[in-house]
Amino acid sequence: MTDYTMGKIKKIALIAHDNRKEALISWAYDNKEELKKHRLCGTGTTAKLINEKTGLKVEGFKSGPMGGDQQIGAAIVNGDIDIMVFFWDPLTSQPHDPDVKALLRIAVLYDVVVAMSKSTADFLLNSIKFKEIYDRNVIDYYNRIRKDNF
Ligand code: PGA
Repeated sequence: MTDYTMGKIKKIALIAHDNRKEALISWAYDNKEELKKHRLCGTGTTAKLINEKTGLKVEGFKSGPMGGDQQIGAAIVNGDIDIMVFFWDPLTSQPHDPDVKALLRIAVLYDVVVAMSKSTADFLLNSIKFKEIYDRNVIDYYNRIRKDNF
């Protein structure tokens, strides 16, 4: 068991840009029986809409453009998120594009499971691994620095 061990109850972040919100809400609705067994959080508007439309309890951070993506990133760093379902809009630039890029970097750095489309989210939820305990593989940065420099 490490700081990066995912238990059977997963900590899942849900985020969608405006043009992708309908798709994420509909995915959450279709999968609400499974999702309600886990701990859900999300950026402000996404969290609120999913709660209203599906009845799922989703802890809301600030809205994305107001720093919500950064808060999700910080939660990943703190070990509070195992899985991120992030339906970002591939056709529209966002005022907070730098935050989105930062979030995607942190998610990879901490080996969080990421789904950015419905098909990936479907595969993720139906993976055998989803129901198991799983150790994420996070680079031992300090050890690496020590090896490189001394
Ligand atoms: P929102 O933020 O859920 O508050 O709309 C999502 C985003 O734009 O990152």
